[in-house]
Amino acid sequence: MTPCEQYRNQLDAWLDDELDSADAAALEKHLAACPACRDVFQSHGALAGRITELAELSNRIAVKTAGAD
Ligand SMILES: [Zn+2]
Repeated sequence: MTPCEQYRNQLDAWLDDELDSADAAALEKHLAACPACRDVFQSHGALAGRITELAELSNRIAVKTAGAD
């Protein structure tokens, strides 16, 4: 299973705030860095507000981890 698939499996739990904070942080960091997963999560519906936050988070991470994967 790819990391993307693992994160996508956590989508429902994340939307329900059922992930623990470490898992949620890892997921949100992945979403900020992975447009493909962001599209999947966005297509699920309830993400408008979070996606806006993630766009800001993505900018911060891009600065912080430039050159890293
Ligand atoms: Zn992904």
